[in-house]
Amino acid sequence: MLGAERYIRDGNTGKRSSMANESANDTAQMIGPVILLGPPGAGKGTQSRKIVDQYGIPQISTGDLLRDNVSRGTELGLEAKAIMARGELVPDELMYGIVALRLRECDCERGFVLDGFPRTPAQAGWLDAFLEKEVFDKSGNPKNLAAEKCPPVVIQLLVDYNQLLLRLTGRRSCPTCGRLYNIHLQPPRVDELCDLDGSKLVIRDDDRREVIAERLEAYETQTKPVADYYRLQRRLVAVNADRPVADVTAQIFSVIDRHKQDRNHGC
Ligand code: ADP
Ligand code: ADP
Repeated sequence: MLGAERYIRDGNTGKRSSMANESANDTAQMIGPVILLGPPGAGKGTQSRKIVDQYGIPQISTGDLLRDNVSRGTELGLEAKAIMARGELVPDELMYGIVALRLRECDCERGFVLDGFPRTPAQAGWLDAFLEKEVFDKSGNPKNLAAEKCPPVVIQLLVDYNQLLLRLTGRRSCPTCGRLYNIHLQPPRVDELCDLDGSKLVIRDDDRREVIAERLEAYETQTKPVADYYRLQRRLVAVNADRPVADVTAQIFSVIDRHKQDRNHGC
């Protein structure tokens, strides 16, 4: 376990795994697990940040957790590095340890938004089993009561293929604050510099054309079936994510609000 703990040392403060904002509007109610599904470039990271601000729950991005491990040169990072550079998925067994550790952190008690997990049907099955047996409400409820009341809300972001290519080839991020930009669609005020802190924006290693093609292929073959998994359970809600950021956010909030009402009225 000690080794695994190292893997998420910076998970709470990781840019996309950031802790919820103190001034969030909605910090008293149970939100439960929110899963954002969608291909690379669909806007999962962008929308996760909006959810963090609105509902005061943390964002857990497995991509960020892995990149953090790569940059710190942990054992997991060393294993994942070449796989990620090729645009392939990291094996399921390597993912379970970091995800379980992160979900057990106490900031996840009221809920969390998962960005990039689950990415295979096996990961989805693992997550269901985990949510059933783990405690999310540390206030003395019976062991799996909170989890029973809180099956995940699964939101699928639908985006046209050509729009995805624009989003991925144009993606830039700030290495200091993590803010996302897009040179085609959401450029910074000054070329290549962050609007907030002036840092020079960076391009992700895997946002190169040949790797993008591989990632989109991995999505089609390995991750799309995850949507079917949740559709069969009648948990999947699709939103049109081929819209401006604020429109997509509004659709997502309305889905979460509906589920939140059900939860807080004891469904
Ligand atoms: P993902 O996490 O799904 O890979 P990101 O949130 O990182 O996707 O978004 C990919 C790129 O697309 C980023 O450059 C981001 O600024 C841009 N983007 C995200 N949502 C939208 C949108 N609704 N309209 C235009 N560009 C967007
Ligand atoms: P995007 O959504 O833009 O593809 P992510 O940051 O979610 O980017 O993921 C980047 C890479 O990290 C993936 O291409 C994959 O190699 C690895 N990865 C992230 N999450 C998972 C996961 N749940 N299972 C396996 N590999 C993952």
